[in-house]
Amino acid sequence: MGSQAIPDTQTAAVVSHTGSAIEIQSDFPVTSPRDLAPGECLVKLHCTGVCHTDLHAAFGDWPLQAKTPLVGGHEGVGDIVAIGNNTSHSPVKVGDRVGIKWLADSCLHCEQCRKGREQNCLDAKLSGFTVDGTFQQYVVSYVNHVTPIPDGFDSNAAASILCAGVTVYRAIKYSQTSLGDWIVLPGAGGGLGHLGASLSNTPKSLDFALSLWAHTGADKKKLCLDLGADKWIDFEECKDLVGEIKAITGGLGAHSALVTAASSAGYKQAIEYLRGGGTLMAVGLPGNATLDASIFFTVYKSISILGSYVGNRQDSVEAVEIAARGQVKCMFSVKGLKDLASVYEGMTKGAVAGRIVLEMPK
Ligand SMILES: [Zn+2]
Ligand SMILES: [Zn+2]
Repeated sequence: MGSQAIPDTQTAAVVSHTGSAIEIQSDFPVTSPRDLAPGECLVKLHCTGVCHTDLHAAFGDWPLQAKTPLVGGHEGVGDIVAIGNNTSHSPVKVGDRVGIKWLADSCLHCEQCRKGREQNCLDAKLSGFTVDGTFQQYVVSYVNHVTPIPDGFDSNAAASILCAGVTVYRAIKYSQTSLGDWIVLPGAGGGLGHLGASLSNTPKSLDFALSLWAHTGADKKKLCLDLGADKWIDFEECKDLVGEIKAITGGLGAHSALVTAASSAGYKQAIEYLRGGGTLMAVGLPGNATLDASIFFTVYKSISILGSYVGNRQDSVEAVEIAARGQVKCMFSVKGLKDLASVYEGMTKGAVAGRIVLEMPK
Protein backbone atom coordinates (compact mmCIF):
# COMPACT_ATOMS: atom_id res chain seq x y z
CA MET A 1 0.00 0.00 0.00
CA GLY A 2 1.05 3.62 -0.45
CA SER A 3 3.24 5.28 2.12
CA GLN A 4 1.29 8.54 2.02
CA ALA A 5 -1.58 8.94 4.42
CA ILE A 6 -4.89 8.61 2.62
CA PRO A 7 -7.62 10.75 4.19
CA ASP A 8 -11.16 9.51 4.87
CA THR A 9 -12.80 12.46 3.16
CA GLN A 10 -11.99 14.72 0.25
CA THR A 11 -13.27 17.54 -1.94
CA ALA A 12 -15.51 16.42 -4.79
CA ALA A 13 -17.90 18.06 -7.27
CA VAL A 14 -21.17 16.16 -6.96
CA VAL A 15 -24.38 16.18 -9.03
CA SER A 16 -26.94 14.72 -6.64
CA HIS A 17 -29.61 14.01 -9.27
CA THR A 18 -29.91 14.47 -13.03
CA GLY A 19 -30.04 18.14 -13.92
CA SER A 20 -29.26 19.41 -10.42
CA ALA A 21 -26.56 22.01 -9.78
CA ILE A 22 -22.94 21.04 -9.10
CA GLU A 23 -22.21 20.97 -5.40
CA ILE A 24 -18.63 21.19 -4.14
CA GLN A 25 -18.54 18.89 -1.10
CA SER A 26 -15.52 18.92 1.21
CA ASP A 27 -16.54 15.81 3.15
CA PHE A 28 -17.07 13.37 0.30
CA PRO A 29 -15.87 9.88 1.30
CA VAL A 30 -12.58 8.47 0.00
CA THR A 31 -12.68 4.73 -0.75
CA SER A 32 -10.41 3.00 1.74
CA PRO A 33 -7.60 0.96 0.13
CA ARG A 34 -8.87 -2.14 1.93
CA ASP A 35 -12.24 -1.74 0.22
CA LEU A 36 -10.70 -1.82 -3.26
CA ALA A 37 -11.64 -4.93 -5.26
CA PRO A 38 -8.94 -6.88 -7.09
CA GLY A 39 -8.05 -4.93 -10.24
CA GLU A 40 -9.09 -1.60 -8.74
CA CYS A 41 -6.67 1.17 -7.82
CA LEU A 42 -6.98 4.43 -5.95
CA VAL A 43 -5.55 7.43 -7.81
CA LYS A 44 -4.73 10.73 -6.10
CA LEU A 45 -5.44 13.22 -8.86
CA HIS A 46 -3.35 16.27 -9.73
CA CYS A 47 -5.87 17.60 -12.21
CA THR A 48 -8.78 16.83 -14.51
CA GLY A 49 -9.99 18.13 -17.83
CA VAL A 50 -13.58 19.20 -18.44
CA CYS A 51 -15.41 17.93 -21.53
CA HIS A 52 -18.78 18.55 -23.16
CA THR A 53 -19.66 14.97 -22.31
CA ASP A 54 -19.61 15.95 -18.65
CA LEU A 55 -22.29 18.52 -19.40
CA HIS A 56 -24.45 15.90 -21.14
CA ALA A 57 -24.01 13.59 -18.15
CA ALA A 58 -24.95 16.27 -15.64
CA PHE A 59 -27.95 17.52 -17.64
CA GLY A 60 -29.15 14.07 -18.69
CA ASP A 61 -29.79 15.03 -22.33
CA TRP A 62 -28.35 11.83 -23.81
CA PRO A 63 -30.12 8.62 -24.82
CA LEU A 64 -28.07 7.03 -21.99
CA GLN A 65 -28.47 8.07 -18.37
CA ALA A 66 -25.62 8.62 -15.94
CA LYS A 67 -25.62 7.24 -12.41
CA THR A 68 -26.65 9.56 -9.60
CA PRO A 69 -25.38 10.88 -7.36
CA LEU A 70 -22.60 11.48 -9.85
CA VAL A 71 -19.01 12.64 -9.64
CA GLY A 72 -18.32 13.48 -13.30
CA GLY A 73 -15.03 13.84 -15.13
CA HIS A 74 -12.99 11.57 -17.40
CA GLU A 75 -9.70 13.32 -18.17
CA GLY A 76 -7.80 12.86 -14.90
CA VAL A 77 -4.08 12.60 -14.19
CA GLY A 78 -2.68 11.51 -10.84
CA ASP A 79 -0.57 9.05 -8.89
CA ILE A 80 -1.64 5.56 -7.90
CA VAL A 81 -1.68 5.48 -4.08
CA ALA A 82 -3.19 2.02 -3.57
CA ILE A 83 -4.03 -1.13 -5.50
CA GLY A 84 -6.70 -3.63 -4.42
CA ASN A 85 -5.49 -6.71 -2.55
CA ASN A 86 -5.15 -9.90 -4.60
CA THR A 87 -4.71 -7.98 -7.86
CA SER A 88 -2.63 -10.13 -10.17
CA HIS A 89 -0.62 -9.16 -13.26
CA SER A 90 -1.11 -5.45 -12.69
CA PRO A 91 0.56 -3.46 -15.49
CA VAL A 92 0.97 -0.50 -13.07
CA LYS A 93 2.21 -0.11 -9.49
CA VAL A 94 1.77 2.24 -6.54
CA GLY A 95 3.55 5.51 -7.29
CA ASP A 96 2.97 5.38 -11.05
CA ARG A 97 1.48 8.47 -12.65
CA VAL A 98 -1.49 7.52 -14.79
CA GLY A 99 -4.34 9.00 -16.78
CA ILE A 100 -8.02 8.17 -16.44
CA LYS A 101 -10.05 8.31 -19.63
CA TRP A 102 -13.74 7.93 -20.50
CA LEU A 103 -13.42 4.16 -20.79
CA ALA A 104 -12.60 3.32 -17.18
CA ASP A 105 -12.68 -0.46 -17.51
CA SER A 106 -13.79 -3.33 -19.72
CA CYS A 107 -13.88 -7.08 -19.26
CA LEU A 108 -10.90 -7.78 -21.60
CA HIS A 109 -12.35 -11.22 -22.43
CA CYS A 110 -15.39 -10.71 -24.66
CA GLU A 111 -15.23 -10.62 -28.44
CA GLN A 112 -15.22 -6.80 -28.53
CA CYS A 113 -12.36 -6.61 -26.05
CA ARG A 114 -10.40 -9.35 -27.82
CA LYS A 115 -10.76 -7.43 -31.08
CA GLY A 116 -9.52 -4.21 -29.46
CA ARG A 117 -12.93 -2.54 -29.39
CA GLU A 118 -12.92 -2.23 -25.63
CA GLN A 119 -15.20 0.80 -25.95
CA ASN A 120 -17.96 -1.53 -27.12
CA CYS A 121 -17.59 -4.09 -24.34
CA LEU A 122 -21.01 -4.69 -22.78
CA ASP A 123 -19.34 -4.63 -19.36
CA ALA A 124 -17.51 -1.35 -20.02
CA LYS A 125 -17.40 1.12 -17.13
CA LEU A 126 -17.41 4.81 -18.03
CA SER A 127 -15.62 7.40 -15.89
CA GLY A 128 -17.88 10.11 -14.61
CA PHE A 129 -20.92 8.35 -16.07
CA THR A 130 -21.49 4.79 -14.87
CA VAL A 131 -18.77 5.04 -12.20
CA ASP A 132 -17.61 8.14 -10.30
CA GLY A 133 -15.04 10.10 -12.25
CA THR A 134 -12.27 12.62 -11.88
CA PHE A 135 -13.98 15.66 -10.34
CA GLN A 136 -12.67 14.51 -6.95
CA GLN A 137 -9.26 14.25 -5.29
CA TYR A 138 -9.19 10.46 -4.95
CA VAL A 139 -10.79 8.35 -7.66
CA VAL A 140 -11.18 4.59 -7.84
CA SER A 141 -10.01 3.31 -11.21
CA TYR A 142 -8.84 0.07 -12.81
CA VAL A 143 -5.25 -1.12 -13.22
CA ASN A 144 -5.82 -2.60 -16.68
CA HIS A 145 -7.24 0.55 -18.20
CA VAL A 146 -5.38 3.50 -16.67
CA THR A 147 -2.98 5.09 -19.17
CA PRO A 148 0.67 5.42 -18.05
CA ILE A 149 1.87 9.03 -18.34
CA PRO A 150 5.49 9.32 -19.55
CA ASP A 151 7.96 11.00 -17.17
CA GLY A 152 8.42 14.69 -17.76
CA PHE A 153 5.07 15.17 -19.51
CA ASP A 154 3.12 17.88 -17.77
CA SER A 155 0.01 16.52 -16.01
CA ASN A 156 -2.22 19.36 -17.16
CA ALA A 157 -1.17 18.85 -20.76
CA ALA A 158 -1.72 15.10 -20.44
CA ALA A 159 -5.22 15.62 -19.05
CA SER A 160 -6.27 17.60 -22.09
CA ILE A 161 -5.15 14.74 -24.40
CA LEU A 162 -7.05 11.94 -22.64
CA CYS A 163 -10.43 12.53 -24.22
CA ALA A 164 -10.50 14.81 -27.26
CA GLY A 165 -6.93 13.95 -28.18
CA VAL A 166 -7.49 10.22 -28.01
CA THR A 167 -10.78 10.54 -29.91
CA VAL A 168 -9.30 12.52 -32.80
CA TYR A 169 -6.20 10.35 -32.85
CA ARG A 170 -8.25 7.18 -33.27
CA ALA A 171 -10.51 8.78 -35.88
CA ILE A 172 -7.48 9.74 -37.99
CA LYS A 173 -5.91 6.32 -37.44
CA TYR A 174 -8.99 4.57 -38.83
CA SER A 175 -9.81 7.15 -41.53
CA GLN A 176 -8.23 4.99 -44.26
CA THR A 177 -5.96 7.85 -45.29
CA SER A 178 -2.25 7.96 -45.90
CA LEU A 179 0.37 10.70 -46.00
CA GLY A 180 -0.48 13.32 -48.56
CA ASP A 181 -4.22 12.72 -48.40
CA TRP A 182 -6.63 15.52 -47.62
CA ILE A 183 -8.66 15.48 -44.41
CA VAL A 184 -11.36 18.05 -43.77
CA LEU A 185 -12.00 19.09 -40.20
CA PRO A 186 -15.27 21.04 -40.19
CA GLY A 187 -15.39 23.46 -37.33
CA ALA A 188 -11.70 23.04 -36.72
CA GLY A 189 -11.14 26.41 -35.16
CA GLY A 190 -14.29 26.62 -33.13
CA GLY A 191 -16.46 24.65 -30.81
CA LEU A 192 -19.39 24.65 -33.20
CA GLY A 193 -19.13 22.29 -36.11
CA HIS A 194 -20.26 24.72 -38.79
CA LEU A 195 -18.16 27.84 -38.33
CA GLY A 196 -15.17 26.93 -40.39
CA ALA A 197 -13.42 24.17 -42.23
CA SER A 198 -9.75 23.60 -42.62
CA LEU A 199 -7.97 21.08 -44.75
CA SER A 200 -4.76 19.29 -44.16
CA ASN A 201 -2.85 17.16 -46.58
CA THR A 202 -0.73 15.68 -43.83
CA PRO A 203 -3.33 13.57 -42.10
CA LYS A 204 -0.88 11.55 -40.08
CA SER A 205 0.35 14.73 -38.48
CA LEU A 206 -1.29 14.32 -35.13
CA ASP A 207 0.18 17.65 -34.13
CA PHE A 208 -2.12 19.33 -36.58
CA ALA A 209 -5.36 17.62 -35.79
CA LEU A 210 -4.98 17.50 -32.05
CA SER A 211 -3.99 21.11 -31.88
CA LEU A 212 -7.04 22.15 -33.79
CA TRP A 213 -9.32 19.99 -31.77
CA ALA A 214 -7.88 21.27 -28.55
CA HIS A 215 -8.55 24.90 -29.22
CA THR A 216 -11.46 27.19 -29.80
CA GLY A 217 -9.90 30.58 -30.29
CA ALA A 218 -11.26 33.96 -31.23
CA ASP A 219 -9.17 34.20 -34.36
CA LYS A 220 -9.92 30.76 -35.77
CA LYS A 221 -8.38 31.19 -39.17
CA LYS A 222 -5.03 32.41 -37.88
CA LEU A 223 -5.07 29.70 -35.24
CA CYS A 224 -5.72 26.88 -37.68
CA LEU A 225 -3.10 28.06 -40.12
CA ASP A 226 -0.56 28.67 -37.34
CA LEU A 227 -1.14 25.16 -36.08
CA GLY A 228 -0.44 23.62 -39.44
CA ALA A 229 -3.63 23.55 -41.46
CA ASP A 230 -2.84 23.78 -45.16
CA LYS A 231 -6.02 25.60 -46.08
CA TRP A 232 -8.82 27.37 -44.33
CA ILE A 233 -12.35 28.00 -45.54
CA ASP A 234 -14.66 30.38 -43.78
CA PHE A 235 -18.18 28.94 -43.89
CA GLU A 236 -19.81 32.30 -43.49
CA GLU A 237 -17.93 33.95 -46.33
CA CYS A 238 -17.80 30.93 -48.60
CA LYS A 239 -20.78 30.58 -50.96
CA ASP A 240 -19.89 27.14 -52.29
CA LEU A 241 -18.11 25.06 -49.69
CA VAL A 242 -18.20 21.86 -51.72
CA GLY A 243 -16.84 23.65 -54.79
CA GLU A 244 -14.08 25.26 -52.80
CA ILE A 245 -12.96 22.00 -51.19
CA LYS A 246 -12.94 20.34 -54.61
CA ALA A 247 -10.89 23.21 -56.06
CA ILE A 248 -8.31 22.91 -53.27
CA THR A 249 -8.06 19.15 -53.69
CA GLY A 250 -7.45 19.16 -57.41
CA GLY A 251 -11.08 18.79 -58.39
CA LEU A 252 -11.60 15.40 -56.78
CA GLY A 253 -12.59 16.21 -53.21
CA ALA A 254 -11.10 15.23 -49.87
CA HIS A 255 -10.12 11.72 -48.84
CA SER A 256 -11.69 11.93 -45.41
CA ALA A 257 -13.75 14.18 -43.17
CA LEU A 258 -13.84 14.11 -39.39
CA VAL A 259 -17.35 15.33 -38.67
CA THR A 260 -18.28 16.39 -35.16
CA ALA A 261 -21.39 18.36 -36.09
CA ALA A 262 -24.50 18.10 -33.95
CA SER A 263 -26.68 18.68 -37.01
CA SER A 264 -27.19 16.72 -40.19
CA ALA A 265 -25.86 19.42 -42.51
CA GLY A 266 -22.24 18.56 -41.81
CA TYR A 267 -22.81 14.95 -42.89
CA LYS A 268 -24.77 15.85 -46.00
CA GLN A 269 -22.03 18.20 -47.14
CA ALA A 270 -19.28 15.69 -46.41
CA ILE A 271 -20.84 13.15 -48.77
CA GLU A 272 -20.72 15.86 -51.44
CA TYR A 273 -17.12 17.01 -50.91
CA LEU A 274 -15.53 13.60 -50.34
CA ARG A 275 -13.90 12.00 -53.38
CA GLY A 276 -14.81 8.51 -54.52
CA GLY A 277 -13.76 5.97 -51.92
CA GLY A 278 -13.63 8.68 -49.27
CA THR A 279 -14.28 8.08 -45.59
CA LEU A 280 -16.62 10.03 -43.36
CA MET A 281 -15.53 9.62 -39.74
CA ALA A 282 -18.38 10.46 -37.38
CA VAL A 283 -17.02 11.56 -34.02
CA GLY A 284 -18.57 13.47 -31.14
CA LEU A 285 -21.75 12.40 -29.38
CA PRO A 286 -24.60 14.89 -29.85
CA GLY A 287 -27.62 13.71 -27.88
CA ASN A 288 -30.40 13.69 -30.46
CA ALA A 289 -28.96 14.37 -33.93
CA THR A 290 -29.55 11.97 -36.80
CA LEU A 291 -27.38 11.35 -39.83
CA ASP A 292 -29.17 12.34 -43.02
CA ALA A 293 -26.96 11.76 -46.04
CA SER A 294 -27.60 10.84 -49.67
CA ILE A 295 -27.78 7.07 -49.97
CA PHE A 296 -27.40 7.39 -53.74
CA PHE A 297 -24.09 9.24 -53.53
CA THR A 298 -22.84 7.22 -50.59
CA VAL A 299 -23.22 4.13 -52.78
CA TYR A 300 -22.30 5.71 -56.11
CA LYS A 301 -19.08 7.22 -54.69
CA SER A 302 -18.24 4.16 -52.57
CA ILE A 303 -18.16 6.31 -49.43
CA SER A 304 -17.46 4.67 -46.08
CA ILE A 305 -19.32 6.14 -43.12
CA LEU A 306 -17.64 5.05 -39.90
CA GLY A 307 -18.48 5.87 -36.31
CA SER A 308 -15.40 6.29 -34.12
CA TYR A 309 -15.99 6.24 -30.39
CA VAL A 310 -13.21 7.52 -28.08
CA GLY A 311 -10.24 5.10 -28.02
CA ASN A 312 -9.03 1.84 -26.55
CA ARG A 313 -6.00 1.31 -24.30
CA GLN A 314 -3.61 1.22 -27.23
CA ASP A 315 -5.01 4.38 -28.88
CA SER A 316 -4.67 6.16 -25.54
CA VAL A 317 -1.08 5.06 -24.98
CA GLU A 318 -0.16 6.13 -28.53
CA ALA A 319 -1.87 9.53 -28.31
CA VAL A 320 -0.31 10.32 -24.93
CA GLU A 321 3.16 9.23 -26.06
CA ILE A 322 2.97 11.35 -29.21
CA ALA A 323 1.88 14.33 -27.13
CA ALA A 324 4.64 13.69 -24.57
CA ARG A 325 7.22 13.84 -27.36
CA GLY A 326 6.11 17.44 -27.92
CA GLN A 327 4.37 16.75 -31.23
CA VAL A 328 1.07 18.18 -30.02
CA LYS A 329 0.48 21.73 -28.98
CA CYS A 330 -2.00 21.63 -26.13
CA MET A 331 -4.01 24.77 -25.55
CA PHE A 332 -5.81 24.90 -22.24
CA SER A 333 -6.46 27.21 -19.34
CA VAL A 334 -6.10 26.14 -15.73
CA LYS A 335 -8.70 26.67 -13.01
CA GLY A 336 -9.58 25.01 -9.71
CA LEU A 337 -12.04 22.18 -9.03
CA LYS A 338 -14.26 24.67 -7.21
CA ASP A 339 -14.70 26.59 -10.48
CA LEU A 340 -16.51 23.70 -12.19
CA ALA A 341 -19.98 25.25 -11.97
CA SER A 342 -18.82 28.46 -13.63
CA VAL A 343 -16.92 26.46 -16.27
CA TYR A 344 -20.16 24.58 -17.12
CA GLU A 345 -21.98 27.88 -17.33
CA GLY A 346 -19.39 29.20 -19.78
CA MET A 347 -19.52 26.01 -21.86
CA THR A 348 -23.32 26.13 -22.05
CA LYS A 349 -23.06 29.66 -23.46
CA GLY A 350 -20.28 28.60 -25.83
CA ALA A 351 -18.07 31.16 -24.13
CA VAL A 352 -15.17 28.90 -23.16
CA ALA A 353 -12.04 29.32 -25.27
CA GLY A 354 -9.83 26.25 -25.44
CA ARG A 355 -9.92 23.28 -23.13
CA ILE A 356 -10.20 23.71 -19.38
CA VAL A 357 -8.08 21.83 -16.86
CA LEU A 358 -9.05 21.94 -13.18
CA GLU A 359 -6.33 21.50 -10.58
CA MET A 360 -7.19 19.71 -7.35
CA PRO A 361 -7.04 21.52 -4.01
CA LYS A 362 -3.64 20.97 -2.38
ZN1 LIG B 1 -14.66 13.82 -23.09
ZN1 LIG C 1 -15.31 -6.98 -22.89
